[in-house]
Amino acid sequence: MPSGITISVASGKGGTGKTTIATNLALVLAKRGEKVTYLDCDVEEPNGHIFLKPDIMQSNPVNVPVPQVDHEKCNFCGKCGDICEFNAIAVLEDKVLVFPSICHSCGGCTSVCPEGAIKDVPRTIGEIHSGNGLGIAFHEGRLNVGEAIAPPITKVLRKSAGASDIVLIDAPPGTSCPVIEAVKDTDFVLLVTEPTPFGLNDLKLAVGMVRALNLPFGVVINRSDSGDDGVETYCLKEDVDIMMRIRFDRKLAEAYSSGGMPLAEDPDYAEKLYLMRQNIERRLNGGRTCHPER
Ligand code: SF4
Ligand code: SF4
Repeated sequence: MPSGITISVASGKGGTGKTTIATNLALVLAKRGEKVTYLDCDVEEPNGHIFLKPDIMQSNPVNVPVPQVDHEKCNFCGKCGDICEFNAIAVLEDKVLVFPSICHSCGGCTSVCPEGAIKDVPRTIGEIHSGNGLGIAFHEGRLNVGEAIAPPITKVLRKSAGASDIVLIDAPPGTSCPVIEAVKDTDFVLLVTEPTPFGLNDLKLAVGMVRALNLPFGVVINRSDSGDDGVETYCLKEDVDIMMRIRFDRKLAEAYSSGGMPLAEDPDYAEKLYLMRQNIERRLNGGRTCHPER
């Protein structure tokens, strides 16, 4: 189990720079001698590996239990179909159909079957890859193509982190179940956004999510010198800490698009990322955040 703090990096929508923050923060802290673990929980589209370039040393399948019906024992009573709220099992006149890709492995059908006609069988839905890149312990989850249910992979992935000073979780975009599975029980959530009306709208949804989960959080504004001041005004009104601002810089964008780590390699931004980590620690210890940019 991790012994340090766990910070999740999330955003209400994709393309805001969430992975940039997670990977560059990981590198800055590793360079400062911290033992860092990075978990890529964006299991439908993990891309942290592009930047951390890990040597993968282990790959393990993630299996979930799904029902298998023994038609010799079944009396076609329909109870399994009635209890399944996901319509993943359907009882016909002389056949029971199971739709594994939408089964949530809740075990409800197995428990209500009066004939003991259902048993759970394992089904592989993805993989966990583990290794090391740039001095950072790296784990990523990958959902198999065509699979619809990501949270079981995230659940296994979050248990992969060994003892570390800091665990950084790169969450999927949005505010749905896979995101909640990635950020829940973390010590702090960084919400990455952009200063645009769309960015503000998605930030509001993300803030609602982390408040409902009762998690401490702060905001990172990417491309902070573009767009409008809606995000800044909202954060001020809602008493939300802005942990860091990143200005638009073509050179940074070009370095990032070719798999570079421009923030960690820029002395000013590296220092800001380190200060942000310190501010998070300060917040978690009951203090206020210092704002080096204000
Ligand atoms: S609950 Fe059991 S016996 Fe009834 S239809 Fe389903 S599998 Fe068959
Ligand atoms: S395990 Fe749960 S979700 Fe899957 S078929 Fe049975 S009742 Fe439905």
